[in-house]
Amino acid sequence: MTITITDSLARGVGVLASSFSSFSSFSFSSFSSFSSLPKPSVGGLIVKPWFKGPLSIFRTASSSSSSSSLSGDSLHVPLFIDGAPVPSTSTSHTPLLNPATQAQLGLVPEATPEEVERAVASSVRAYESWRRVPVPTRARVMLSYQEVLRRNVEVLAGCITEEQGKTLEDARGDVIRGLEVVEAAAGIAPLLLGKYQEQVARGVDTYSVSQALGVCASLTPFNFPAMCPLWHVPLAVAAGNAVVLKPSERTPRTAVKLAELAAEAGFPEGVFNVVHGGKGVVEAIVDHGEVKAVSFVGSSGVGRQVYARAAAGGKRVQCNLGAKNHLVVMPDADVEAVVGALAGSAFGAAGQRCMAVSVAVFVGGMGRVVRDKLVARARGLVVGPGWEAGTQVGPLISKESKERVLRLVERARKEGAEVILDGSGVEVVGYERGNFVGPTIVAGVDTSMEVYREEVFGPVLCVVEVDTLDEALEVINANPNGNGTAIFTSSGYAAKEFQSRVEVGMVGVNVPIPVPSGAAGGFGFTGWNGSFSGDLAMYGAEGVKFFTRTKTVTAAWKERGEGAGTMTGLGGVGVGR
Ligand code: NAD
Repeated sequence: MTITITDSLARGVGVLASSFSSFSSFSFSSFSSFSSLPKPSVGGLIVKPWFKGPLSIFRTASSSSSSSSLSGDSLHVPLFIDGAPVPSTSTSHTPLLNPATQAQLGLVPEATPEEVERAVASSVRAYESWRRVPVPTRARVMLSYQEVLRRNVEVLAGCITEEQGKTLEDARGDVIRGLEVVEAAAGIAPLLLGKYQEQVARGVDTYSVSQALGVCASLTPFNFPAMCPLWHVPLAVAAGNAVVLKPSERTPRTAVKLAELAAEAGFPEGVFNVVHGGKGVVEAIVDHGEVKAVSFVGSSGVGRQVYARAAAGGKRVQCNLGAKNHLVVMPDADVEAVVGALAGSAFGAAGQRCMAVSVAVFVGGMGRVVRDKLVARARGLVVGPGWEAGTQVGPLISKESKERVLRLVERARKEGAEVILDGSGVEVVGYERGNFVGPTIVAGVDTSMEVYREEVFGPVLCVVEVDTLDEALEVINANPNGNGTAIFTSSGYAAKEFQSRVEVGMVGVNVPIPVPSGAAGGFGFTGWNGSFSGDLAMYGAEGVKFFTRTKTVTAAWKERGEGAGTMTGLGGVGVGR
């Protein structure tokens, strides 16, 4: 049976294109407006705490027009170097499009090699001073950053909704989850503690200290424009590093805004720089001799290349990659809770989350119990532009993404799956050019199908049916990814078995999207297998470790004439004993 949801999904979606402009309230601040102001300093570095008020130098095109005429430098998304927006001299640009309207929001430069060099050199200079700034002062800058970000949640959320497409509520969540890491970074001091052992030999003590690495690169994807950079920047900077951020070319303005707000919060010049571009810029950053660590979040294919390149260059690397997340429904699960959890986690954010549930694994006939309720709930979700009140499913990021998602669903149909809810024909009145796909449920999926093997990254839920928990575990553990998974059950035993045996790094028990909170006691984002390359997870205690290295000092302080400090067997004749 195929259910077409075109009409019901369009229901409730207004056509007030003009309301779009409420997110275009990032008024202009000229590059030079603050140059005459006094320059206070932190630890000898120039900072710009006056960097307040209107933050953006961007202007958006008319909302409903697909061919807006844009002119003037204000349309060019700037780089952010040395504490200020910097227009790129590049002649190569990518148009930045609103995914709900195709309105052109601006032009994103492919930074030139000289500009990448300038950003890294700025960060090198900043690092040399910033690493010497007292730890409590660095922590206070993070306190200030969290306050400035919190004050600007709506500004950032508006920007995210406009360039990324997700609903305002999801966009606020995007910022808040990043903010949690900023809050954790404000408590950096105890996380940098070293160790001390006295009298390791006569008159000799050994101690270790945590030191910053230098310039760190943050390479981030389109789907969490605030959260992903904030997985890296706060901990890296609080630990004494400087960061060059290269955001997705589809969400560059949120990144510049994060840097502007950091400058307002007191980040010294050069501690947080932003450059834009694609493959060439990423490679220039990764290959740069002064870049000591690379944090990448994005798709598996690109991430593996970045990992190999950075590792070959001797850098510290962490890469969070693609995913295929399963939610197991046991026969004793609370059906209402399951329906709500699946609808939210599969279709929320239009399925463009690395922790989205993309496979429901129904155990022991639960598919029959849940199916009709799930279809009804999913069919009732409101598809529309993220800024419209009531919208629950926004557009996909690009036309290409939409075409790819529809192709995968069509292919599943040809391979024998049953599309029990088809979102391909969804129409959003007034936004006919938007990249919308309605919630789609594909039943009868087997694990050889392309729709199962590929990360769909759209509002598409595959349904797999099995008889036992053991079989569910077999399916999940055979999948090459390992980001997130969940079980819904009222059995403590089943939950315990599942969390113990499943080969996935983040597990939810009656929680569909178990992304660990960055503020909760040092937990990080622990994807496994094909969903992660590296050794140390992003944020949390491992995140701090990633951005620091241990130096171990052995020191002898003796009375004059007692001889040099010597460790047993290492150059002395038992002098140290
Ligand atoms: P992407 O891989 O296309 O882009 C990520 C970054 O790499 C961007 O900055 C992009 O400009 C850059 N890039 C793109 N092509 C490149 C190339 N050939 N060489 C070097 N750099 C290149 O990813 P995306 O489409 O922006 O994001 C969606 C993907 O990210 C999904 O696969 C999703 O699962 C994944 N993701 C993973 C996590 C996680 O924590 N595991 C979190 C968010 C997103």
